[in-house]
Amino acid sequence: MKQGTIIKVSGPLVVASGMQEAKMYEVVRVSEKKLVGEIIELRGDTASIQVYEETSGIGPGEPVYLTGKPLTVDLGPGLLQSIYDGIQRPLDEIYNKAGDYITRGIVMPGLNQEKEWGFMPKIKQGDEVGPGDIIGTVQETSLIEHKIMVPPGISGIISKIVPAGKYTVIDIVCRISGKQISMAQTWPIREPRPVAKKLIPNEPLITGQRIIDAFFPIVKGGTACVPGPFGSGKTVVQHQLAKWSDADIVIFVGCGERGNEMTDVLQEFPELKDPKTGEPLMKRTVLIANTSNMPVAAREASVYTGITIAEYFRDMGYKVLLTADSTSRWAEAMREISGRLEEMPGEEGYPAYLGSRTAAFYERAGKAKCLGNREGSLTVVGAVSPPGGDLSEPVTQNTLRVTKVFWGLDANLAYKRHFPAINWLTSYSLYYDKVNDFMRKNAADDWPETREKAMSILQKEAELEEIVRLVGVEALSPEEQLLLYTAKSIREDFLHQNAFDEIDTYTSVKKMYWILKAILEFQNMALRKLKQEIKLEEILESEFKEKIAKAKMVQEDRLDDLEKLVKEICESLQNN
Ligand code: ADP
Repeated sequence: MKQGTIIKVSGPLVVASGMQEAKMYEVVRVSEKKLVGEIIELRGDTASIQVYEETSGIGPGEPVYLTGKPLTVDLGPGLLQSIYDGIQRPLDEIYNKAGDYITRGIVMPGLNQEKEWGFMPKIKQGDEVGPGDIIGTVQETSLIEHKIMVPPGISGIISKIVPAGKYTVIDIVCRISGKQISMAQTWPIREPRPVAKKLIPNEPLITGQRIIDAFFPIVKGGTACVPGPFGSGKTVVQHQLAKWSDADIVIFVGCGERGNEMTDVLQEFPELKDPKTGEPLMKRTVLIANTSNMPVAAREASVYTGITIAEYFRDMGYKVLLTADSTSRWAEAMREISGRLEEMPGEEGYPAYLGSRTAAFYERAGKAKCLGNREGSLTVVGAVSPPGGDLSEPVTQNTLRVTKVFWGLDANLAYKRHFPAINWLTSYSLYYDKVNDFMRKNAADDWPETREKAMSILQKEAELEEIVRLVGVEALSPEEQLLLYTAKSIREDFLHQNAFDEIDTYTSVKKMYWILKAILEFQNMALRKLKQEIKLEEILESEFKEKIAKAKMVQEDRLDDLEKLVKEICESLQNN
C-alpha cells in the first residue's frame, strides 16, 4: 500500500508529506490506528487530510496509507431503519463490536453483508439494459420496495439473472455483458448521482401543516431553510414533516453539537410512528448522526452521505425528504478546518467557499427524470441555528440565497405559545406559481385568491397594530377593528395548530380551504352588516364565531359540515 508520513497534527487536520501520488478527496488511513481521513488539499507532495475520527495520540512520523478511492457510501437493501455515523458506519453494530465508545479505525460495511433479502427478478436473460433500469426488487420493509437498479455507467445484455430467492447484498444476482452485479452499489459522496433530466418542480409537498401548505408551501424537489432558536419548535416541525408530508422516504441528517443534541434525535426518531400505517416511521427512514466522540469534520461527511443516500432513493422513483439539522454546525466545521488550513478567511471567519459549498448541497435537491425513465424527487429542508437569532449572519444568508422557502421560526411566538411558531410576516415561499394549479384542482378554484386575501389581512394587521400602539384601538374605524378581529381569527382558528392533537395534527388541503373560507366569509358578512350600521360588538356575538373556532377540530371525513358552515355564513349575508 502506498504511504506518506505525517508531519503535523492539528486537531482534525493532519498534514502529511510523501503524498505525490494522492488525489484530491482520496480516502486515506491515518497512522497504524487506521483512522479514516479524506484529502482536502494537495500542494506538491504535501497533503492536508481531514480526519473523521479523534486524532489524539497521533503524531509526526507516523504513516498515512493511500487507498486510491474517494469517500463512498454503500447503497442497497438494508439502508432503511439504519442509524449511521457520518461515514456510514452502522451505530448499533459499532456499539455491539466496540461498546460505548467507537474504537478508532473501525471499518464496517454500510450494509449488512450476511443478511439475506428476498430478491424478485424483473428482467430476463438476453434483455438489453442501461443505467437505472430495474433488474429486480426487494421488499426491504413492509412500507418500501427497494428497486435494484443497474448502476450508472453500466449497460449491455443480461447474460445471467438469478431466479427469485434469498440473496445477500454481496451475492452476484445478475451479469450484464460480463460485468457482475450485486444488489449493492457504491457511490462517491461528493458527486451528485446522475439523472436523465432535471425537471421543474410543480407539485406541492403536502405537509398537513396549515401555515406551510397554505401560506409558505414547498414543492416536491424544492428547498427550504428553517432557523430554529432554542425552544421555538424546530424539532416538532421536523417531526411533523417526517410523519405527515407526502414523501415516501425520510433521510434525517443530524449534525448536532457533540453528543447532547443528537441523543434526543436518536431516542425520539425511532419511537415515531408512521401515522398512515401505524408502523414505526423508521421503516421508511435513514438516520445519519454524528456521535459524540467524532470530531467536527465528520459533520461534513454526514451531510454528503445523507444526500447521496437520498439521491439513491430518488433514483428508484421515490419522493424523498431530507432534513439536515443543523447546517450551521456543518458550516462551523468548515470554518474550523479552513482556519487550520490557514486559508484566507471570509465573512466572520467562514471560508470564502461557504456560499458555493452551501449552494452545491442544495442544488442536489430537485425533481428529476431519473435514469431508467422514472420520475423522482428530493426535497431538502435545512435547519440553521443563527447565534442569537441573528439572520444576517453568513450561514443563514448563504442558505437563503439558494433555498426558495423560508419558515421563520420565531422565539417570541413560541414564548406566547403560538405553535407552529412560524412567523407569517417574515416567512416566504417562492413556489406559489408552482403549486397554484395543484391547489385549484385539489383545494378549490379560488384558492390563490383566498390565500392572498388572508395574507393581506395579516399584513394589514401588522400595520394597524402600530397605530393601536400609538393611539389606541378607539382610533380605528369599525372596518379596521373588524380586520383586526379577522386577523386574530386567522391566527388562532387557522394558523395555530397543535401537533399533539389527534385531529389537529394533520389538515388536508380541502379542510384548510374551508376553514379559511369560513373566516373570510364571516368577514364579508360582518362588513355588510357594518354598512347597515349594525354595531361590531353585536355582529361579533354571532353563533358562527364559535363554529369557526371549532372548525379545525372537524374530522377529515366530516368536511361537509365545514362546507355547510360556509354556506350558512354566505346565506346569512344574502338575507341581510
Ligand atoms: P426546539 O427543537 O426548537 O428547541 P421543540 O420542537 O422541542 O423546540 O419545541 C419546544 C416545545 O414547544 C415542545 O415541547 C412543545 O411543547 C411546543 N411545541 C412546538 N411546536 C408545537 C406544535 N406545533 N404544537 C404544539 N406544541 C408545540
